[in-house]
Amino acid sequence: MIINNFYPWHESLRQSIIIQKNRLPHALLLHGRIGTGKFDFANLLSKSLLCDQPVQGLACHTCAKCLWFEEGHHPDFKLITPEELVQNEESSKKKTNKKTQISVDQIRQLIQALNLTNHGTHSLRIVLIHPAEALNLASANALLKILEEPPNNTVFMLVCHQVQRLLPTIASRCQAIAMPVPEKDVALNWLKMQHVSEPEVMLEYFGGAPLNVLDVHESMRLSQDLFKQLGLGAQLDIFSCVPLLIECGMEQAVLILQKWTYDLWLSLYSIQQHYHYRHGRALQGLAKSVNLALLMDFQRQLIEAKQTANHPLSQELQLESLLLSYKKVFVRSH
Ligand SMILES: [Zn+2]
Repeated sequence: MIINNFYPWHESLRQSIIIQKNRLPHALLLHGRIGTGKFDFANLLSKSLLCDQPVQGLACHTCAKCLWFEEGHHPDFKLITPEELVQNEESSKKKTNKKTQISVDQIRQLIQALNLTNHGTHSLRIVLIHPAEALNLASANALLKILEEPPNNTVFMLVCHQVQRLLPTIASRCQAIAMPVPEKDVALNWLKMQHVSEPEVMLEYFGGAPLNVLDVHESMRLSQDLFKQLGLGAQLDIFSCVPLLIECGMEQAVLILQKWTYDLWLSLYSIQQHYHYRHGRALQGLAKSVNLALLMDFQRQLIEAKQTANHPLSQELQLESLLLSYKKVFVRSH
């Protein structure tokens, strides 16, 4: 999704940065909660800063620079995101290995490109790195060198969901900006404008992160199929379930399983479900055949899986094994 407007909860931050256009720090670290639009903010801010005819500081979306930006070949804008680790797999398995790391080669190529175009030019150049925690030790160190001696007229924007996973020496070279999480009613209003049904329930489910809500809302049919499968308990079909989870991304997939398990747990004690009230009946039915020790085991596995969610293991295998454990939680009645 390409956005042409800043999110309402970013408005005052945008204004305060645009005002400093001519004296921006050479590196910004935009950190904050996932699903609150940090990348969209950085991307649109870059476009606005590079635009030839900004309107009140905002990109015009019509000048040549804006069009280059949209087409992804603005010469003064470099976007660094994780590389595909495995590329030549058959199409059905394409999503098995999601992009996870920013390689040292990517940073070396970036430095080379910056050096090549550094002819005392006065025009602004922007490097957007997203997400910055995808830098591994080698690429982070390569980046550190250039942050220590930043080239002229260049602004680095590092977008980061988990700032504690960033090399402290990198963080200390940047001006940190804590990105705002929208107030509840601001987020709700925005979701309503995107025609999200049941915005309150969805916002609660995603812990106040409206963009995660939108992502999932767009694949709602998919998540309904998923909950239908989870509701089958021991009869769940692993092979139709795994692609549905992979589609959500590994981190989100684990979160979905955790929330489902949490509600299963509540159902065990006949407490109202927290996230899946619409699947209340299915959860109560499932709760009757739960083996407590195995449910606790499954929860532990989910916590472990969360910690390795971005690890370049085969996500398919990891999910298959998680779902197998899930199925085993339910004891067949005699
Ligand atoms: Zn423009």
